[in-house]
Amino acid sequence: MIMNIKRISIMAISLLVNLGISQQDGKSKVQGVLFSDGEEVALAISNGEISSISRQNQVGNGSDLYLAPGLIDIQINGYMGVDFSGPDLSVERVRKATKALWKAGVTSYLPTIITSDLARMKRNFAILAQAQKDPEIGKSIPGFHLEGPYISPVKGFRGAHLEKYIKNPDWEEFMELQEAANNGIRLITLAPELEGAIAFIRNCVATGVTVSLGHHNGSAEDITAAVDAGAKMATHLGNGCANEINRHHNPIWPQLSDDRITPSIIADGFHLTKEEVRSFYKVKGADKTILVSDALDLAGLPPGEYIRGERSLLLTSNVVKLPKENVLAGAASPISACIGVIMDYTQCGIKEAVQMASTNPAKLLSLQDLGEIGQGKQANLVLFKLENNKMVIHKTFVAGKLVYSKDD
Ligand SMILES: [Zn+2]
Repeated sequence: MIMNIKRISIMAISLLVNLGISQQDGKSKVQGVLFSDGEEVALAISNGEISSISRQNQVGNGSDLYLAPGLIDIQINGYMGVDFSGPDLSVERVRKATKALWKAGVTSYLPTIITSDLARMKRNFAILAQAQKDPEIGKSIPGFHLEGPYISPVKGFRGAHLEKYIKNPDWEEFMELQEAANNGIRLITLAPELEGAIAFIRNCVATGVTVSLGHHNGSAEDITAAVDAGAKMATHLGNGCANEINRHHNPIWPQLSDDRITPSIIADGFHLTKEEVRSFYKVKGADKTILVSDALDLAGLPPGEYIRGERSLLLTSNVVKLPKENVLAGAASPISACIGVIMDYTQCGIKEAVQMASTNPAKLLSLQDLGEIGQGKQANLVLFKLENNKMVIHKTFVAGKLVYSKDD
């Protein structure tokens, strides 16, 4: 009888091992093919952290799934019908979005609140701060991104942000937002040419908030002054920019040419041309490029027409459009889809693609426990297959806990 039980538990363990995971004595093990070098590895996990990494020398004894750190999306406006800037946001709605993102391999994200009226932004940041304390989803929300309201009011540069709420940087107002957010705002996108922007950037940097330049028409001098003051990122480079710009003097060249700037890009196959993505990548490289989804709340829903506020939006299988104006309204792909696109466009490998969608955002935002597979790092992991460069997520772990499994 004892023999039988032992045999059954050994069978159960080996079954799980074939699926890439095993559990024993409260500790767990995840194994797969390491994304960065193609070698089979087994990770021991305890207390939500990676406690050891061992290389497997018996080829064929483990999983055929790739193993990588969980994806980190630092710009996402909503998902699966949940709008982080919307009037109906609640902790339960954030939970719905978070769980849907786990399915897409996203283990950490910065819910992004865009230009809205002050009361709405405060209310929603307070809800996000509550979500951050939630035992189930809090570990997936290391902070928040405020995109606006201190951006260019000029048509084209302001993108889909509502002009009536756009204003010059106001530190006291930002402090109110930060208080509502329980100091959770880790990233802000702003325009460097606005009055008071440079002093505002210095204040952000002094309080540990990362500054990114976006939705702006800053001159080379404005951009240099902003970077000198501590700005280190450019938000969705090539987007949030007017269609017609001066070929010499525009915000793109100075942001590309300054090595201190890491751009984020929306490589969803629609927001940038292949040539733009290739050029940006050639200049900045895998070490200084960040992938973001910039997904709207419609992402993850079935295609069709949706009403948002006073506007009608058309969701295709890949992107959101404003049908009246026939322009892009936003992205509809999770960051895992951008991995396949950048691999196709630049011929980079999965190693570089994961670096841009996990390691780089973690480093830029000083999320020290995230973005890498290493001893002592939080066990945020994805097991996946690549099918024609398309990332197919099989399992997602947050702090060592299995939060999504394709087979369930
Ligand atoms: Zn934007």
